[in-house]
Amino acid sequence: MTATRITPGLAGAPTDVDLVVIGLGITGTGVALDAVSRGLSVLAVDAHDLAFGTSRWSSKLVHGGLRYLAKFQFSVAHESAVERGIIMERTAPHLTHAMPMLLPQTSGRVHTAITGYGMVAGDLLKRSARTPSGVLPRPRRLSAAEILQLAPALRRGGLRSGYLSWDGQLEDDARLVTNVARTAAELGAHVRTRARVLSASGTEVELRDELTGETRTVRTRSVINAAGVWAGSLVPGVDLRPSRGTHLVLRQESIPGLQVAVACPIPGTSNRYVMVLPQPDGTLYVGLTDEAVDGDIPDVPEPSEPEIGFLLDVVSAAFSHQLHRNDVVGAYAGLRPLLHSNEGSTADLSRKHAVLTSETGVVTVVGGKLTTYRRMAEDAVDAAVARAGLQAGPCRTHDLPLLGAAPRAVLAELEDPARLVRRFGTDAALVLDSAREVSGLSDEELLAPIADGVPATLAELIFGVTHEGAADVDDLLDRRTRIGLVPADRALAVPAAERALRIAMS
Ligand SMILES: Cc1cc2nc3c(=O)[nH]c(=O)nc-3n(C[C@H](O)[C@H](O)[C@H](O)COP(=O)(O)OP(=O)(O)OC[C@H]3O[C@@H](n4cnc5c(N)ncnc54)[C@H](O)[C@@H]3O)c2cc1C
Repeated sequence: MTATRITPGLAGAPTDVDLVVIGLGITGTGVALDAVSRGLSVLAVDAHDLAFGTSRWSSKLVHGGLRYLAKFQFSVAHESAVERGIIMERTAPHLTHAMPMLLPQTSGRVHTAITGYGMVAGDLLKRSARTPSGVLPRPRRLSAAEILQLAPALRRGGLRSGYLSWDGQLEDDARLVTNVARTAAELGAHVRTRARVLSASGTEVELRDELTGETRTVRTRSVINAAGVWAGSLVPGVDLRPSRGTHLVLRQESIPGLQVAVACPIPGTSNRYVMVLPQPDGTLYVGLTDEAVDGDIPDVPEPSEPEIGFLLDVVSAAFSHQLHRNDVVGAYAGLRPLLHSNEGSTADLSRKHAVLTSETGVVTVVGGKLTTYRRMAEDAVDAAVARAGLQAGPCRTHDLPLLGAAPRAVLAELEDPARLVRRFGTDAALVLDSAREVSGLSDEELLAPIADGVPATLAELIFGVTHEGAADVDDLLDRRTRIGLVPADRALAVPAAERALRIAMS
């Protein structure tokens, strides 16, 4: 059964389109959705898989841009806050929720007052973006006793008070990418994984099918290069300065009783933090670092031991017991596709996105962040349409819910299995129905955790193959689900992934 237009390789792919999109991270899938919803014919490709690059290594936040205000980047901050509101209210309420974040205050009154002003500024930003308090509550000051109720393992010495603020958290970043890709495919975009772009001009793209080795040329009226940190290898004049950000994965038990995210101050800095982020699957992410990267860009960046040690030290200083290397059950690193500038460290480089057009007419969109993917896509498609003189409607994506999206009140009433609702919204029933249809298995078997301590289900793995273009065990465990973030869990889950592939492909 093939219910998907997301497929690996190039067999049957169109050879003449309005737009070729290079890269299926959040930017490229966002571009594909934007373009196809304006009526353009689209072929969107990735050399590997959906969400193979940076988009799966984020902190999984849709954030309001408070950190940019601190650097006086008002337009970047406002844009972030507006896009956060669009994602949380309209396009993807099913994949997002409000995340409470604690900022414990242990330093003097001046610092506490500055943090207080920051909270007010964050709230103004939210209001200027018209995000209601029902979606993201207002920040408030807490006493030390209230703080310890939410985070009992915090170090008590010197704890005076703190603030509780709210930001957006994603169910998972790769899930958002997959959801955007599936929505684009549903509207008619051809979405192909394992299809590498070897070269591109504004009117022609040379592609290699990574399954067969066959190469072919596709004629097109426009090209958008959304290849993230690899964008500069396809088009001259795109000067990137990647920086690596590393996260640790801990089990919940490593920081007992934690009910909220915590910002742990980095000693010796005034406004930099390491965040501890509780995840919907019961793990904690700890991040992140910011290290300039020189030389070749790896397919899968690796965290370094000094980064792991640094993150453990900062968090240990904030909590009442020392974390150790064996608390770390997983670690991952991603490369930020930052544009080169003459600023000092990569932490100071602007997170604003850029749309650049090459001499041959390839439009490149880089920089930015996951939160602003929709706006990045809109700007890139506007540029491509104008340059090639394409007949296209206006951008529709600010009011285009992704597949499975619905108002929170509707989601709360759904009676489908809670895990599926959390990951697929109103499509939870479709996930289960289609898994039933292809497998003939009972609901008990389709909905049971696939291994001890691994809550993913066979139903979603089968759906990953039938509807989301997963082609092998890695696609299922590392991108359609994120079991692979904990290698010990991944090893336990391999038999279930193999079984899902056998069932769905038979
Ligand atoms: C550690 C870290 C944490 C972050 N946290 C957040 C966060 O919490 N919130 C937020 O809003 N932002 C966050 N960001 C920023 C955000 O993750 C990135 O800006 C975003 O994911 C970049 O997406 P992209 O689609 O542009 O690139 P990518 O996701 O890297 O996609 C590029 C794709 O292009 C493909 N490709 C490359 N070359 C070719 C080729 N020749 N042919 C075909 N395909 C090709 C790759 O395989 C890849 O899949 C974070 C970034 C990092 C590094």
